[in-house]
Amino acid sequence: MVKENLNRIVSTIPEGVRLIAVSKTKPVEMLQEAYDAGQRLFGENKALEMRDKHAVMPNDVEWHFIGHLQTNKVKYIAPYVSLIHSIDSLTVLEAVDKEARKHERVIDCLLQFHIASEETKFGLDMDEARQLLESDEYRELHHVRICGVMGMATNTGDMDKVRSEFAHLRNIFSDLKCSYFKDNDFFKEISMGMSHDYAIAIEEGATLVRVGSSIFGERIYI
Ligand SMILES: *Cc1c(COP(=O)(O)O)cnc(C)c1O
Repeated sequence: MVKENLNRIVSTIPEGVRLIAVSKTKPVEMLQEAYDAGQRLFGENKALEMRDKHAVMPNDVEWHFIGHLQTNKVKYIAPYVSLIHSIDSLTVLEAVDKEARKHERVIDCLLQFHIASEETKFGLDMDEARQLLESDEYRELHHVRICGVMGMATNTGDMDKVRSEFAHLRNIFSDLKCSYFKDNDFFKEISMGMSHDYAIAIEEGATLVRVGSSIFGERIYI
């Protein structure tokens, strides 16, 4: 089913938008199935799980980290991760910079914003983002590169609400672009949209969509 699901979704993704197959909790056999169908971008939300899957999957997979990142877990993803979507503090950004330096690489990152009305979702607000970007500490980091923003909409069937939260994230992106990244072509990513709302996210300007259950089936947490 993975191949059929993937092909169906890929056919709805316009040029200029990249699909991340969110494979968290799923066995590598299913990732391999998606890989064989042509998928190269995979998203995981646990550092150790990503490390273990990276060890056995082909080398040309692009690994996207999309979960809450603890500073002491950065070392498990730093050697190979393509993009960390979930930077929500200066502390975690500093930890990523430190590990990236050890591997002599620059790690691309997104700032995660809190755009949903649920209390539980991680993320910065605009004031916190400005504080981070204007701090002396941030200016000293040379092994991370902030390439855009990420957010999760409220888990609701109210699609007008979801749409307005995505529009809000797009406005945040534009504000930051104007204030801090005007001459930086690499600041171009808006990561938003999951299985049930990615089509709306694309209409509202997403450049990266993160789709899990529509490709791999519902997740079972034990
Ligand atoms: C799990 C997850 C997704 C994918 O969710 P689905 O509803 O299964 O498509 C996307 N983004 C993040 C941050 C996730 O944790």
